[in-house]
Amino acid sequence: STPLDVERIRSDFPILSRKVGGDVTVPGEGPGDDTPLVYLDNAATSQTPDQVVDVVADYYRSYNSNVHRGIHSLSQEASVAYENAHDRVAEFVGADGREEIVFTPGTTEGENLVAYAWGLAELGPGDEVVLTEMEHHASLVTWQQLCKRTGATAKYIPVDEQGTLDMEAAAELITDDTKLVSAVHVSNTLGTVNPISDLADLAHDHNAYIFVDAAQSVPNRPLDVSDLGADFLAFSGHKMCGPTGIGALYGREHILEELQPYLYGGDMIRKVTYEDATWEDLPWKFEAGTPNIAGGIAFAAACDYLDDIGLDRIQAHEEALAEYAYDRLDEYDDVDIYGPPGDERGGLVAFNVDDVHAHDLSSILNDHGVAIRAGDHCTQPLHQKLGIAASARASFYLYNTREEVDVLLDGIDAARELFA
Ligand code: PMP
Repeated sequence: STPLDVERIRSDFPILSRKVGGDVTVPGEGPGDDTPLVYLDNAATSQTPDQVVDVVADYYRSYNSNVHRGIHSLSQEASVAYENAHDRVAEFVGADGREEIVFTPGTTEGENLVAYAWGLAELGPGDEVVLTEMEHHASLVTWQQLCKRTGATAKYIPVDEQGTLDMEAAAELITDDTKLVSAVHVSNTLGTVNPISDLADLAHDHNAYIFVDAAQSVPNRPLDVSDLGADFLAFSGHKMCGPTGIGALYGREHILEELQPYLYGGDMIRKVTYEDATWEDLPWKFEAGTPNIAGGIAFAAACDYLDDIGLDRIQAHEEALAEYAYDRLDEYDDVDIYGPPGDERGGLVAFNVDDVHAHDLSSILNDHGVAIRAGDHCTQPLHQKLGIAASARASFYLYNTREEVDVLLDGIDAARELFA
């Protein structure tokens, strides 16, 4: 695949040209704002191109209105755009159509929707939910707490020294007692790319479902729910050039068809009496109340934006940056890098520098204009297993450059000198 024209791409993101520093209590207006921004916190939230911002603005400027119920023109325009957005997102992940795509506020709510709509009804004592040790809290805490509530048991597929899943252990842990396997596709801490279709085969051999946390994979690689064998798959718009507050849950149509709703209210019903109610067709049965209309329409625009550039090229670009960062960090004796080797990971690198706490490192990097994440990245149990409380994480996307990785390394050198 041909390399990305990063200069051109960056021109779609005015925020990338801003300066940082100065008074952070005045957003965008600090008096000492003079350091170019190097944004390497894309696994937390990606930036939003003008093409997507314009769609949000255009919605509010020209056809802002409630969906589904109006006869008037604005409502019809909003409804068509919002409903079609489901088709666009369905196409983006290879789903069969809008029936299989429920818009949610994000990955977290996708997990909770399935936990409450399916798990609460189906799980009980003796049943098992198999997770990985590298699950994000969105999946780990949701299923752990649902197991406590239903009497089911949560089990964890171990992560080995390399930061990869022990698939032999997985084959033993997944049994006829397993009702669901929930696995993160690309780890937001280790950068590991998990063998989802192998896990799906194991789950299906035992008549269990597989839920895929694709928050870190849908944004940056060609992905097809059927190829993965996913029964459910969740992702977030704000990590893929879309707005915050919108995401999607994919579910196989026949499974979603059988589930009870998760939230009740307007828009999700067909007929209501004082005694009972019936439900709308998929996916509206799972979208109670006024949805995030502008967000949904802009989510589809983000899919257009990424597809126009090419997911295979985006993947190659960000993985090359991660490998470069890995190799440069690996040259230092006092740096620990977590997860698989540079050429076997997704587009992020989590690490620690001896003697420098991740939070101090992040704060010094901020003085250099570099935005990274420091903390446990919502994987506390994994951090405990690694024997650390926190780590620093640099994560890359389509608009980042090797020069920006060099600025990161310069900042790390400065931190090291300060703490030496
Ligand atoms: N899973 C993974 C792997 C993630 O990286 C994130 C975001 N940090 C989430 C789930 C949760 O996504 P959201 O906060 O958008 O619901």
